[in-house]
Amino acid sequence: MKNHTDLSEIFKRLSIATVNPAWSTGKVSGMADGGIIESNSPVDGRRIASVGQTTPEAFDSVVDRAATAFSAWRDIPSPRRGEIVRQFGDELRKHKHDLGTLVSYEMGKSLQEGLGEVQEMIDICDFATGLSRQLYGVTMQSERPGHRMYEQWHPVGVVGIISAFNFPVAVWSWNAAIAWVCGNVCVWKPSEKTPVTAAVCQQLIGAVLARNGAPEGVSCLVQGDRTLGERLAGDRRIALVSATGSTRMGRSVAAAVASRLGKSILELGGNNAIIVTEHADLNIALPAAVFGAVGTAGQRCTTTRRLIIHEEVYDTFKTKLMRAYEQLRVGNPLDEKNHVGPLIDREAVANYEAALAACKDQGGHFIVAGGVLQGDGYESGCYVRPCIAEVSPDMAILQTETFAPILYMMKYTTIDEAIRIHNEVPQGLSSAIMTLDLREAERFLSVAGSDCGIANVNIGTSGAEIGGAFGGEKETGGGRESGSDAWRAYMRRQTSTINYSDALPLAQGIKFDL
Ligand code: NAD
Repeated sequence: MKNHTDLSEIFKRLSIATVNPAWSTGKVSGMADGGIIESNSPVDGRRIASVGQTTPEAFDSVVDRAATAFSAWRDIPSPRRGEIVRQFGDELRKHKHDLGTLVSYEMGKSLQEGLGEVQEMIDICDFATGLSRQLYGVTMQSERPGHRMYEQWHPVGVVGIISAFNFPVAVWSWNAAIAWVCGNVCVWKPSEKTPVTAAVCQQLIGAVLARNGAPEGVSCLVQGDRTLGERLAGDRRIALVSATGSTRMGRSVAAAVASRLGKSILELGGNNAIIVTEHADLNIALPAAVFGAVGTAGQRCTTTRRLIIHEEVYDTFKTKLMRAYEQLRVGNPLDEKNHVGPLIDREAVANYEAALAACKDQGGHFIVAGGVLQGDGYESGCYVRPCIAEVSPDMAILQTETFAPILYMMKYTTIDEAIRIHNEVPQGLSSAIMTLDLREAERFLSVAGSDCGIANVNIGTSGAEIGGAFGGEKETGGGRESGSDAWRAYMRRQTSTINYSDALPLAQGIKFDL
């Protein structure tokens, strides 16, 4: 992606004729004269496109349209909805390289990770297609004669999806693909930092839905900043709000949705650690820690931020880490020779610098120094050096998530101490232990072990598969998305009892004779 010619080729192949505020309008996105959002690439600072912002009035009519679409969409058999989602997966296969490149260019992650993100979308479409024939309820034994009791699942209605910049398209698809097969319709508010890839996705799904004669409004896109997110969270017509982003955002969304007794799924910040025990295979632990810490330039919710290392292997592992960090190449993420791309914007760079200063102030000692990179190839001002600090576990900085490649390492003596340090943060998303010792591994996975939503053995903290339920505890919000039975959160449960006898026996043996 060296110049705009490449970009316009991509837009052309994605059937986006012109790069102007109107092209994300589509038929169901409801853009109007709400001003524009400029998307500038963190890769080279160049403008990718401007996208129209959704006005409050347009938002209102989008949600109305979605609600109307729901009453038709819910009546379409689920396997038929699954077939439409399958076709969307095929569309993504066709455009994987172009969309993946655009994700990489707009967000700044490596091309491999951009392509991986689109692959994740394809995978969830496959998963949702199969799921469309498996939305099972259970039957229960009734205590009353001549009665049948069972549970069934119905869609909730309009699902609002608020997504973060770091997975600009995959997180939407995790929610939307599952929500659609369940019979819901979706209104998506992507991050204002990545509006272009969102508009492309809307274009792709819009074409698939139209080809299949689906009602207009099954997939809606609204574009704007947090103000629009707040509007969405407070809208009573939106039955479920699935919000992915910072814990600060989650607190606000949770309160707004709860105050109207709506449903929410919250996928918030992480502060993930790997415990490296004296029984670890360091040849596995090393790449897991390095990829976990510097992949996506430390901007994954599952990024490894803390290493808790047994004192016996501490020095050996530290030397290996320092050597590995020397090999890291920071630069244009579309150049596959580079390991680390830019941060999303200069505000993120300022947060990184503030965290480095705070860490030093609190007594941290940098064994791999950080800093902002300048000069050739770094003109966007968003490239920073991945760094490592030795810290003591009680430092305040360890309690917060800084969305940047800063790795904190600390020493422990006993496994109980390691688990205590591990759990002593407010977030609870992803966790890992590196050990070949069965007792240690099982202890980490036991009820007294990791308190996170994801707990891995001999795998790092980042890079989850869509087949599992994804999400975390504590300040990570408690929500689950994607695989396993996460679909239940997108549906409402109905318990039905049918009396086929000629009497009306009451439950608990209660007598009510007339
Ligand atoms: P952010 O919270 O700044 O923004 C996320 C989204 O929320 C954006 O669309 C934004 O416009 C919207 N928003 C912000 N404030 C809002 C409010 N008060 N009401 C409604 N909407 C609001 O987060 P970000 O910087 O885009 O993303 C990084 C954060 O997201 C990190 O904390 C990361 O850990 C988290 N994240 C979590 C997961 C997960 O699955 N747990 C996945 C990806 C990212």
